Parts: sequence; structure tokens; C-alpha cells
Amino acid sequence: MTRRPTIKPKIAKTVPVLRRIVAGWRDKSETVALVPTMGALHAGHISLVHLARRRADRVVVSIFVNPAQFAPTEDFSTYPRTFATDVEMLGEEKADLVWAPANVAVMYPEGFATRIVPERAATAGLEDRFRPDFFKGVATVVAKLFTQVAPDIAVFGEKDFQQLRVVTRMARDLDLPLRVIGAPTVREKDGLAMSSRNVYLSADERAAAPTLHRVLKLCASKIAEGHSIATILSEGREAITRGGFVLDYLEARHAETLAPIASVKDGPVRLLVAAKLGTTRLIDNVGVASPSP
Ligand code: AMP
Repeated sequence: MTRRPTIKPKIAKTVPVLRRIVAGWRDKSETVALVPTMGALHAGHISLVHLARRRADRVVVSIFVNPAQFAPTEDFSTYPRTFATDVEMLGEEKADLVWAPANVAVMYPEGFATRIVPERAATAGLEDRFRPDFFKGVATVVAKLFTQVAPDIAVFGEKDFQQLRVVTRMARDLDLPLRVIGAPTVREKDGLAMSSRNVYLSADERAAAPTLHRVLKLCASKIAEGHSIATILSEGREAITRGGFVLDYLEARHAETLAPIASVKDGPVRLLVAAKLGTTRLIDNVGVASPSP
């Protein structure tokens, strides 16, 4: 297999170094895209880098496992960390700069006392119901990344659909001068949404995992055909449980506001799911085709 030539991306580990590099680009009137990640990169992350490359002259990829978005019971300490491989992949994809804060104190220095507390989409009763502080942690770190890098655009995956809605709204609410762009979910051949956490799955769990997307797709097509959302969701919930998952939620929501929605006539519908296989929690979502007018 021939590997593409690698140009090692620059790595900034402190805010002043980051700002100096970005300022150099700005002096040449170059545009900048940011792709925020927690590392353990896979083809889903790389698709965001590709989109960013098409939309801006320079691409910054941040790698920071953000403690503020993990609950004490969650996997912060064991979250996969593969920094050397990540940097190599980003070199192959010609990212210009990796923004990798040297340690947690670079982001949250002693005495850190300010948090962003998002509402509406962030309190829609989906992820927030199971991870009550998650979006406060996400919004706070993303607001910091936005002000540190000051990009023209920031690319987020639809894989984390509620998060995409929350950060889009936050950028508007705070008048941050950038555009948030959503990118489609990249999947394994069998439909499983790629995720850094998929490495936690045992062989049996990995074999069962694609059920989640299969059920979502089936529900979406039945709802698009005109079947009742409530009936289809209740069948979907049973199918997911029968597939060996412990279900957190399977919901139909308005794709923009994430408010509950009872019929395809009431707006674009998104189906969102979260469920556990063993100790691994998987999330996914799909759109429902709108009825023809
Ligand atoms: P994470 O490293 O999991 O925080 O994800 C960083 C970014 O990559 C987020 O915007 C995610 O939505 C996005 N992402 C994660 N998995 C995928 C995927 N399978 N397809 C597209 N984007 C993804």
C-alpha cells in the first residue's frame, strides 16, 4: 500500500503559540477553519477535515479531551488517547495546525470560574437527561476554542446532532463571528456510526451494534410512508431492546429546534437514539424524508 507523503502539521500547545500562528495567516488574509475533536481520530473526524479544507485556506484541528463534559462516573481517564497516530493522520490529510493544549490547566487555569450554560436545544430531554452537565462542558470548551482560534468556520459532525444544534445556537447567541457547519455521519460498512468509543465494544457487542442504525433507518422509512410516529417509535424501542441494548431514548424531534414532534406535517423530523451495549453507550440519529407537497 502506498502512503501519501506526509507533511507534519505544526502543533501548538499554548494559547500564545496558537495565536501567533493564526495571526501569521490572517496577515496574509487567509481564511481559517476549526475542527474540534477529542482525538482518537477515525474516518468520521477526517471527513470533517476534508470539508474544512474545501471551505478555508487553513485548517486547525483541536485535540483536547475535555474533563468538563465528563461526569465523574464516565470514562474521562480511560478515554482513548492516540496522539501520535492522530498527528500522523492529520499530516496525511494536510491539516495545517494541531491545537493540543499541553495540559488541562492551559484550558482551565487555577481559579477558572466561568461556564456557558446553554438552554433550549441543550435541555431538550435527550442527551441532557442522561448527562446533565454535558452541554455546559461542551459549550464552555467550544466557546473557548472559538475565541482562541477565532476561525471563519467551525465544522461539527451530525453524529452528535444535539451538540451541533447547541453550538450553532451558542455562536449566534454570543455574536461569535463564525459559521458552524454540520457534516454527515460517516459509518462502517454495516451502518454503525464511527465513534472513538467503538473500540470499547467486545466482538459480540460489535456484531450486535449495527442494529441501532438498522432500526433507525427502518423507523425513518415507515414514518416517511405515513405511519404514526408514536406507533413506529414504540416498535423501534422494542426492536432495540430485543437486539440486546439497554435503551436510554429513541425519540422523534423537530430537526431544527429538537422539540417533540408528532407528525411529519409539523416540520422536518430527526430520529435520535442512545443505548448501551454492555458498558458502552452508543448514540446515532437519522433524518426522516419530508412528505412530498
Ligand atoms: P469527538 O472527538 O467524538 O468529540 O468528535 C469530534 C467531532 O467529530 C464532532 O463534531 C463529532 O460530531 C464528529 N464526529 C464524530 N464521529 C463522527 C462520525 N462518525 N461522522 C462524522 N462526524 C463525526
